[in-house]
Amino acid sequence: MNIILLGPPGAGKGTQAKKLVDERGMVQLSTGDMLREARSSGTEMGKKVAEVMDRGDLVTDEIVIGLIAEKLEAGAAGGFIFDGFPRTLAQADALGELLDKMGAPLDVVIELKVDDETLVQRVVNRAKEAEAAGQPVRADDNAEAMKTRLMAYYKQTSPLIGYYHAKGDLRSVDGMAAMDQVAASIADILNG
Ligand code: ADP
Repeated sequence: MNIILLGPPGAGKGTQAKKLVDERGMVQLSTGDMLREARSSGTEMGKKVAEVMDRGDLVTDEIVIGLIAEKLEAGAAGGFIFDGFPRTLAQADALGELLDKMGAPLDVVIELKVDDETLVQRVVNRAKEAEAAGQPVRADDNAEAMKTRLMAYYKQTSPLIGYYHAKGDLRSVDGMAAMDQVAASIADILNG
């Protein structure tokens, strides 16, 4: 199965993706994780994207599509979970073409719905907890960058809800529910 987890920053896509990796042997493709890896390895591309990411804006389609295309080549027996990708209509079109070329279907797009206020609280808490535990704090996990991230979501990513709805691929889940409840709702959809 190949699935997309769609939703605003802080909606819980990464958390749910990791559960699916553990429980179903799927492969998580998180462009956020890939970009953070690129920046910490100090490559030219990493340097280029660092400033954009810290501000909360989206990096170019070209870069993230390239990252995804590279990972798709390896294939995944249990299927792929796209987490944080696609984030623009151009990325959605590119993903469709890549999957078509592989002869692999996109099975379902699961939207995690969460209120804005809760999203801001979650990322601010995540930063506080990381700090208290002496772990690195994401430079974009603060109220200021969060405003930009939410704006990027509404302007550039939320049109994908209509796009996938029109294709008949969209299912929505209440992302405000407890983590296990969200996982159960996703499992119901995948087992459906
Ligand atoms: P979150 O979903 O919590 O905002 P991510 O870890 O998915 O965080 O992404 C962090 C940042 O990485 C984004 O704010 C953006 O700058 C960049 N990024 C990740 N995925 C994409 C993408 N598909 N297209 C453009 N930029 C991306």
